[in-house]
Amino acid sequence: MSRRALLQYLELLKQSGIRQLYHEPAGAQAALDKKALLKSLALKYSDCDKCPLAAGRLNLVYGEGNENSIAMFIGEGPGDNENKIGKPFVGAAGQLLDKMLAAINITRQDIYITNIVKCRPPENRNPSTEERLACLPYLVEQIQIIQPKILFIMGLVAAQSLLGNTNTLTWHRQSCHEFMGIPAFVSYHPAALLRNSNWKRPAWEDLQAFQKEYEKLL
Ligand code: SF4
Repeated sequence: MSRRALLQYLELLKQSGIRQLYHEPAGAQAALDKKALLKSLALKYSDCDKCPLAAGRLNLVYGEGNENSIAMFIGEGPGDNENKIGKPFVGAAGQLLDKMLAAINITRQDIYITNIVKCRPPENRNPSTEERLACLPYLVEQIQIIQPKILFIMGLVAAQSLLGNTNTLTWHRQSCHEFMGIPAFVSYHPAALLRNSNWKRPAWEDLQAFQKEYEKLL
């Protein structure tokens, strides 16, 4: 991890009140432990009330997928369908994400998917700074457990939150960034692509750039 990335990471940890870091379980049990650990943490946080989003929660949407994957896809927050079902990206945006993944020969079983906040913001509004910082420790913990080698960040809110800036999506899409020392690509949120099909072409270019690095890491 570069010094800049380390400082960025430590600042985010400080802002979100993280006091303890997860240590990777050693030995052959590690892969098995990851699944069990993530499951137990999802259960542990299911009654979290650290931020106002708890009030509208039907189900905590912790994350789903392959805990041994080298790739994590990170969106903004659960929508209505996700809140009802407790799984990420299950609505129309999720179906589009599946198609986007298929276009680069990836399935849901190949990756791990989660969001920067685990409870649904009302009326799908952007999560506030307070809400993002309250929930960030859970994402950091997931990354520490899964230990992905590459991240794909979906949408401006998630990108600005994790990369600690207020730059535009266009700026974020221009290069590969780093979060917790891990290469991080940024693109449109699938829900945004449903609203504006003109963004599908640039989103496809982002996916191809991601695919190139992902396949190198396999
Ligand atoms: S969004 Fe995160 S911090 Fe806020 S209540 Fe839900 S789990 Fe807790």
